[in-house]
Amino acid sequence: MESSSHTTQRKIIHIDMDAFYASVEQRDNPIYRGKPIAVGGSPEGRGGVVATASYEARKFGVRSAMSSKRAQQLCPQLIFVRPRFDAYKAVSAHIREIFSRYTDLIEPLSLDEAYLDVTDDKLQIGSAIEIAKQIKQAIKDELNLTASAGVSINKFVAKIASDLNKPDGFTFIGPSTIASFMESLPVEKFHGVGKVTAEKMKKMGLFTGADLKRLSEQELKSYFGKVGAFYYQIVRGIDDRRVQPHRETKSLGAEDTFPVDLTTLEEMEAELEKIGKTVVTRLQRYELKGRTVTLKIKYSDFRQITRNQSFNFPINDYETIVQTAKQLLIGTQPEDQKIRLLGITLSNFHELNLNDTDKANQVTQLSLFD
Ligand SMILES: [Mg+2]
Repeated sequence: MESSSHTTQRKIIHIDMDAFYASVEQRDNPIYRGKPIAVGGSPEGRGGVVATASYEARKFGVRSAMSSKRAQQLCPQLIFVRPRFDAYKAVSAHIREIFSRYTDLIEPLSLDEAYLDVTDDKLQIGSAIEIAKQIKQAIKDELNLTASAGVSINKFVAKIASDLNKPDGFTFIGPSTIASFMESLPVEKFHGVGKVTAEKMKKMGLFTGADLKRLSEQELKSYFGKVGAFYYQIVRGIDDRRVQPHRETKSLGAEDTFPVDLTTLEEMEAELEKIGKTVVTRLQRYELKGRTVTLKIKYSDFRQITRNQSFNFPINDYETIVQTAKQLLIGTQPEDQKIRLLGITLSNFHELNLNDTDKANQVTQLSLFD
């Protein structure tokens, strides 16, 4: 049985495809390879915007979100390519499938970027560095595209790390280097620090993480408001934000097949307690509460039954889940049975607080065609 505790240091990977739309276009159209291209709106007409520029175009200063007119001024030979979102979505689905070989804790930020929590990876590889390298390789082999990966113990540092050695980058910032890394980080790299805040910080003589670290939490709050508390934490490498899968999880559980069939109620209850512990750990990691507890029993003759009980309020606590499973078990008159497998599943989840990334993507797509 897997054992994991709520306080385990997390292993977080941030994967970001390199110049995503432009790379897909260069992959699919040999005439674009090695050339400066900009996927996005045309420079004629009003409001055309560059969605993604190829690395060849970036050398001329062409950037995402720049007006296509300006991009053409910077790079007269720039080739403008109309986006093919269906192609990008297909690639995106494929990379998510690659991610899902390692974990179900995937939080997509856009079509080409996601956080993965691989603290308990499905293949029991154990090393986030190894998993990130395998993912990069799979993306190369199966999609003929490159991605950059950042590996750390939290989302904030993993995301910064993935951006450090683009393209085809890989950066690991482990627990022993996180403090010095954060101290050397320029303030504009801090989450939520926009241009205005960065200017304000510089006027105050705050240029790097080390400068921010000298201020107390109270000082940071009084200068920058609520977000000051976040700066105080993050400059110390603390970021407890969880990787939250968008996809609505339908059920979550754990089960165990026993080397020897269980024949006494005492043994069965002891196993339910172990399984319950795993279920609760997972529920807490996913920040889920369910209203239905399901008990699965497989007998020595492979006959299988399930029994469930629903509550009118969501639960995720060990005591309730295990007691419910035990009562369901007793209801099946297990005393004269030989049981080879027991499982507990929680379902009927409470509405999750989902990000609106998909909505944001749709807005971006519309504005590109203006
Ligand atoms: Mg990208």
